[in-house]
Amino acid sequence: MAVSELASTIIESPTLRLNEEARLLRERGEPVIHLGIGEPKNKTPIAAILASAAKLTQGDVKYCPTDGTPSLKKAIIRYTEEHYDKVVAPENIIVSAGAKQCIFNLLYCILNPQDEVVILAPYWVSYPEMVKMCYGVPVVVTPEDGSFHPRMEDIERAISSNTKAIIVNSPNNPSGIVYREEFIAQIVDFCERKKIYVIMDDIYHKLVFDGRRAPSAYQFTTRDLEDSRVLVINGIAKLYGMTGFRIGWSVAPRKLVAVMTNVQAQTTSCGSPVMQAGAEGALIGLQSIVEGLRLQMQNNRDVAMRELSSFNGVKTYKPEGTFYCLPDFRAYNGNSVELSKFLLKKALVVTVPGREFGMEGHLRLSFAGTVKDVTEGIARIKWAIDPTSPNDIYIGDKKLIRDWL
Ligand code: PMP
Repeated sequence: MAVSELASTIIESPTLRLNEEARLLRERGEPVIHLGIGEPKNKTPIAAILASAAKLTQGDVKYCPTDGTPSLKKAIIRYTEEHYDKVVAPENIIVSAGAKQCIFNLLYCILNPQDEVVILAPYWVSYPEMVKMCYGVPVVVTPEDGSFHPRMEDIERAISSNTKAIIVNSPNNPSGIVYREEFIAQIVDFCERKKIYVIMDDIYHKLVFDGRRAPSAYQFTTRDLEDSRVLVINGIAKLYGMTGFRIGWSVAPRKLVAVMTNVQAQTTSCGSPVMQAGAEGALIGLQSIVEGLRLQMQNNRDVAMRELSSFNGVKTYKPEGTFYCLPDFRAYNGNSVELSKFLLKKALVVTVPGREFGMEGHLRLSFAGTVKDVTEGIARIKWAIDPTSPNDIYIGDKKLIRDWL
C-alpha cells in the first residue's frame, strides 16, 4: 500500500496503544492494573452533562463558528481573567478538538519546512511527531544532571537561526515537575528578544500540589498580547476529567488566531457544539470539582511515593503536579521498553516506557486511578523485579510464585 514518506515515519501513540492493550486484556478477564492511564476516573461534572444535554434536546445541532461558540469563548475569557489575570478578546481565542489539535494547529500555522522546535525532555510523546507532521525538526534538550529541570544554558545552545518555537509543558507530563518561576521568566525574556514563540501547554496548570502554583508565562511579558510571543494552550480534559469531550483552546495574537481559524475551517469546520456546551458548563459550573480532583491526586501522589520508597534501587522525583511520576528504574533494567513489556507479561501492570518521553531507563506511572490500583500496581512491580520482596503474590485470585530472580 502506498503511503506518504512523511506519514510512514509517524509513530503510533504509545499511550493510546497501551490503553487498547489494557482494554483487550481486561476484556479477556485478566486482572490488569493500568498505571499507564492519562485521565482521572471521576464522572463528568453534572454542570457539563446538563449543558450538553440541554443543547442536544433542543434538537438543533448544526455547524457553529469555526473558532468556537461565542458563549464558550465568553467562559474562556472569564477563565483566562480569573486564572491568568489576563484580559483577552474573543479574537484571541480558538477552540479546537482537544489541546492536542490546538498544538498541532498552532505548529502547522507557524512552521515552515525545516524550522526547528525546541522540546524539553522529558516531553509529552506527541510533540516531536506533531513537529515532524508539519515538516519541522524537533530539537530535544535533555537536562544533563539527570534532573527533570532543563537549564537555560542548554536551551540557548540548542537555538539556531531556524528555531521557531519552544514548547513548555508545566506541570509536566511525564515527570510531574512544575518549572520554577525564574526558569519561565528566563524563557519568556529570551524568546521575546529572539522572536521565538513560547508554546505553553498548560493543560495541567491547576493540578499542582503542596500549596504551589504553576507560574503563568504572561506574568513575565510586558508586551501587549498582539506583539507577544507567548501562546497558551489549555483545555478541560485533565482538570475536569473530561477527556472524551475533546475540547481545548489556544490563546494567541489575533493575526495568528485568524490563520489557525482558516486552517481549522478547511480541516474540521468546527468543534461539536454539544461538546462545547459541555465545556462551557464545566467552566461556569462548580469549581470545587477541580479542587476535589487536585486533592485526590495529591493524596494518590503521596501513596505512590510511599510505595516507591520501599524499593532499594528506584530513584523518584516527587511530582509537584499532574498525575504522573517518572521513577528511574535503571538499577533494575536500563531498557524501559523491555521492562514495561516484562511487567505487563509477568505482573499484569501497564506502565509507559520512559524512552517514549525521551528518558530511557525510567517508567511513567500514572496515579490517576484508585488508591488500591496505585498500591497494588506498585506492589506487583516490586514483586516482579525486586529480589528483596516476598516470592509470591496474589494477582486476582491466582497465587503466583516468582522464579526468575
Ligand atoms: N498536552 C499534554 C501534556 C497532555 O498530556 C495531553 C493529554 N495526554 C494533551 C496535551 C492533550 O489533551 P487533550 O485531551 O485536550 O487533547
